Amino acid sequence: MEEEWERGFKNCELCEWKCGVNRLEGEVGVCGVGMPEIAYCNLAQVLQSYSVTMLGCSFKCIYCNAYRLSQYPGSGWFYQGYVEPSELASEAIYRIDSREGKVMGVDKISFTGGEPTIHLPYIKRVAEEARKKMPGLGVGFATNGFASLATLKEIISFCSYVTFELKAFNDDTHRAITGAPVEPVLRNAEYLIKSGKEKIRAIRTIVIPGINDKEIKDIAEFIASIDPSVPFRIIPFRPNYILYYHPGPTKERMEEIGKEVLKTGLEDVWWGGYYPVDVSERVNEIAGELKGNEGARIGFAYSKLAGCITENRNCGECSMKLNCPAGLKEPWLLDVE
Ligand code: SF4
Ligand code: SF4
Repeated sequence: MEEEWERGFKNCELCEWKCGVNRLEGEVGVCGVGMPEIAYCNLAQVLQSYSVTMLGCSFKCIYCNAYRLSQYPGSGWFYQGYVEPSELASEAIYRIDSREGKVMGVDKISFTGGEPTIHLPYIKRVAEEARKKMPGLGVGFATNGFASLATLKEIISFCSYVTFELKAFNDDTHRAITGAPVEPVLRNAEYLIKSGKEKIRAIRTIVIPGINDKEIKDIAEFIASIDPSVPFRIIPFRPNYILYYHPGPTKERMEEIGKEVLKTGLEDVWWGGYYPVDVSERVNEIAGELKGNEGARIGFAYSKLAGCITENRNCGECSMKLNCPAGLKEPWLLDVE
């Protein structure tokens, strides 16, 4: 006997592909996914959240940095799998209430992937169960924006925070990057801004040099024409997956794009990160004060920046080997400038 939440997977129209397949009976649509499956869960420091990473996606992005889970089951990797909603909710609350969760200030459960839209009925059930145990618990949702409109309305109604990715402005570029048309994504961005602005954590775009970097300003103008106060985040692409040999944006190009975007009238713009072409001055400076051959000194310098208390790394003899301060949860936050 199926539960009520499971009915959302019959005649599936959760995303804009609207495949109409019965996922409960093993039929699959464009995403290729049956019942919701979990890749892994973790306490995410930056988001201050218990983050649930789900398998499968409605897109096939050529730069996907999570391709082994977004392209599941085709990727051939296997993961945690299906977990009963009540069980996942209990696990989330246990971790949020743990010492580590409290130290990080975790106050929400968030869903990412892959693409969580394709599992929405399950996610709602997990959130309901978790909120029964912890009333007021925040729920975050990171999406590629390709939900059907009915699904987007549900996301807005039960989530506390939405991160929405807009990958290109022109349809051909969007198809080239994701394999899907841009129109539903632009429609959804507009709907979200007009009907759920207070829930938007950020609209974000990844800059891919030579592919979408000339459209970032168009995206910003589009957002500004609806509401200039929407937070917009511009993030550098790092070579991955099918674009493994494609270059990322330099620091100068990110600055240039950031400044162009500011001219659109958007009021809350952030850009940061870049693809390095050289070792930073700071790393070289620290390396200059260390001992060892040239290569080793550069390697020691990075560890030192990350918090290593030694200068010549011998972890077996280190007094902090069981509590290494150089372990980074979010490696891109290492400050090399
Ligand atoms: S989630 Fe989207 S791609 Fe997957 S079966 Fe449903 S409508 Fe199709
Ligand atoms: S939408 Fe995100 S998870 Fe899905 S394929 Fe694209 S980058 Fe990967």
